[in-house]
Amino acid sequence: MRYYSTNGKAPLATLQEAVTQGLAADKGLFMPERIVPLPDDFFKQIDKLSFQETALQVANAFFGEDIPETDLKAIVYDTLQFDCPVVKVKDNIYSLELFHGPTLAFKDVGARFMARMLGYFRKKDNNTGLVNVLVATSGDTGSAVANGFLGVPGIHVYVLYPKGKVSKIQESQFTTLGRNITAVEVDGVFDDCQALVKNAFMDKELNEHMTLTSANSINVARFLPQAFYYFYAYAQMKRLGLADNLVVCVPSGNFGNICSALFGKKMGLPVKRFIAANNANDIFYKFLQTGQYEPKASVQTIANAMDVGNPSNFARIFDLYGKDHAAICADIDGMTYTDSQIRNTVARCYAENGYLLDPHGACGYQGLEDGLREGETGVFCETAHPAKFKNVVEAIINDQVEIPARLGEFMKGTKQSVPMTKDFASFKAYLLSE
Ligand SMILES: *Cc1c(COP(=O)(O)O)cnc(C)c1O
Repeated sequence: MRYYSTNGKAPLATLQEAVTQGLAADKGLFMPERIVPLPDDFFKQIDKLSFQETALQVANAFFGEDIPETDLKAIVYDTLQFDCPVVKVKDNIYSLELFHGPTLAFKDVGARFMARMLGYFRKKDNNTGLVNVLVATSGDTGSAVANGFLGVPGIHVYVLYPKGKVSKIQESQFTTLGRNITAVEVDGVFDDCQALVKNAFMDKELNEHMTLTSANSINVARFLPQAFYYFYAYAQMKRLGLADNLVVCVPSGNFGNICSALFGKKMGLPVKRFIAANNANDIFYKFLQTGQYEPKASVQTIANAMDVGNPSNFARIFDLYGKDHAAICADIDGMTYTDSQIRNTVARCYAENGYLLDPHGACGYQGLEDGLREGETGVFCETAHPAKFKNVVEAIINDQVEIPARLGEFMKGTKQSVPMTKDFASFKAYLLSE
């Protein structure tokens, strides 16, 4: 399978090139040249398959031309060492819990899959050089990528994060690991971290000195595997006899997660329509209303993993629907919620249903309450465990949130990080000395 750039000015790439380059040379995003539909038989018996079995069929449609089945199976099965159950919240609203991985947020699957795919390519080529993954984070991405790549031979990860701007729990998830993970604590804000990473990718001298790649959701190996979630959610709803008129609501920031779900729909997944739930960063919501895509600076919210002012995967969605606004609106509705609405939703859902949402999942739940029509059943993604946002959530419900054992383990480790200023010259000098 070849991959083209959404900007249309870069040569076609192989899967391996697309995964190692991250972004295309013309700054566009890589898209697979074809989307392979899954056969009717697969959907007929999907409710009898495990998460891993389902995912392997989907992975085969994406990557089967490029990776032999036994290797692909090893990548998929090793990635999916945890479940993503559908849990009833009330009436016709179900939560798809995507937080049962090692860092308790949905990015674990993409990060683990990408790490294993890079590891596979490296082994296949007998490559003994080191691949350096740079990732800027406001919290969740860094922990998922660091844990996903931990101990993978031949890969070193640098996590750049803004000093004092991530929660203690999040920080502990990427600063206590050691081994092939280096945390870089930048004296600045998230945008400064992102600028350092972007500058590093564009710096000729640095790229001659070392192999650099990105692990943000622009990478096809990180965003496409998230489609596994949606096929398995459908399978679980089918088991419950509730798979007709299914609406899926995805709390969205960079739109990688929902974009993978839209690929699923193009492959035949019988989801009636989607709802993209935004926090106050409503660029996509506005696009649906007006047809105009107008990126702007992000605003800070309590659902901070969705504080994105220029969603990188918009280009993919636009391309997937042939740049047709009406076609996009036919498949996707939009919602947007302020912090006070999110707080209300968390409190109300907890009081009424005994189900504790995190601030991101709250946008998803509310999106269904507001958007479901007669006869529809809704599934929303609960993208993080509420304990990851302990302080925010406890203040809302006026109660303690228990920290799962896995998170507690991270907090016991010793923080190790490299202090860095926000100017590129010092970051570059540091990398050159590594
Ligand atoms: C990253 C993240 C999101 C947004 O996902 P996108 O793929 O960027 O749209 C939502 N919730 C949580 C908890 C996240 O970490």
